[in-house]
Parts: sequence; structure tokens; C-alpha cells
Amino acid sequence: QGAIEQVGRLIRDIPDFPKPGIVFKDITPLLGDARGFRASIDLFAERLGGEPLDYVVGIESRGFIFGAALADRIGAGFIPVRKPGKLPAEVHRCEYQLEYGTDALEVHRDAFGAGARAVIIDDLLATGGTAHATGQLIRRLGGELVGYLFLIELTFLNGRRRLDNAPVTSLIRY
Ligand code: IMP
Repeated sequence: QGAIEQVGRLIRDIPDFPKPGIVFKDITPLLGDARGFRASIDLFAERLGGEPLDYVVGIESRGFIFGAALADRIGAGFIPVRKPGKLPAEVHRCEYQLEYGTDALEVHRDAFGAGARAVIIDDLLATGGTAHATGQLIRRLGGELVGYLFLIELTFLNGRRRLDNAPVTSLIRY
């Protein structure tokens, strides 16, 4: 309980970023606080409950930060899921809807073999489009999706509803 509050105090609201009317949850104070950052990784590891995992799949770009630290902590590999055109080898791509238009995410086709057990991690769950697309990529690779992890969940956007193929864990909810 104390750890969650410690982490929560290190997330700040930035009004009107990146556009007017949006309140951005800024995690940089958490990353810059040695104890707070470690507490967030402790909490993620604790929620996984020692479940055997081969890979942590981090979503660009803040998912890389938490994902890499968590992978190291639990003794798993780290797989980056990136915006189009960033990964150098052959990729699978998944397109998804934004409010206006579409976006896409990519993963290396040889990132892991069929049957690998993977968890997806990102800093924030909003509408769920980004995480859902990442789940599709894991399926394309033949991986077993063990769950989704988020530091923050904006519950009023109901993104969790779209992630019905694996358990969703969030540390802090607004
Ligand atoms: P979704 O696809 O609507 O769930 O949006 C989630 C993605 O947008 C994640 O990759 C987040 O990093 C990013 N995102 C959306 N809003 C925020 C915010 O307020 N703070 C930090 N990241 C955000």
C-alpha cells in the first residue's frame, strides 16, 4: 500500500500536453527518483507472482524503460515493439485506429519462437488501442500472452475492455 502511494506521488499532471484539453500523466519524476523507480519495478515483479516468463515485451517508448528494468529483475529477455520503420530486420506490422486516422506498431519476425511466454508492458493504458495491437503481434509470433502490465490506467476510457485475451494489471488507476 505504501509503495503504491510512493509511486503515485511521483506522477504529475501536465495540462494541455501534447494538445489543448489533454492532461498528460508525466512519469519523469518517478524515473528520476531512485527509490520510487525501484518501487515501481518491485510492484510489477510482485504482481507477476513468480509466474515463469520468457520475455517482457515493451511498447515504444516509455514501455522500454519499465520493461527493460523488469526483464532484468525477473530474468527474462526484453523485446521492443516499435513505431514503423525503426526496427532493422524483417517485421510483423499491426495497424490500429486512432481518433483521427491510423497508426502502426512493428516487432521483429524472429523476436521469439512459438510457445514463448510473454508479458506486455507500457506506462499507461488509455483507450487500449496500442496494447491491443501489441497483443496481436505476439499472437502473430505464436507467443503465449500471459498478461498486460501498466503503471497507470485511465479507467474512464475503458481500455481494459479491449484487452480480453489476457489478464490486465495496473498499479495506479485514475
Ligand atoms: P491508448 O492506445 O489509447 O491506450 O494509449 C496508450 C498509449 O499512449 C501509451 O503508449 C501511452 O504511453 C500513451 N499515452 C497516452 N496518454 C498518455 C499520458 O497521459 N501520459 C503518458 N502516456 C500517454
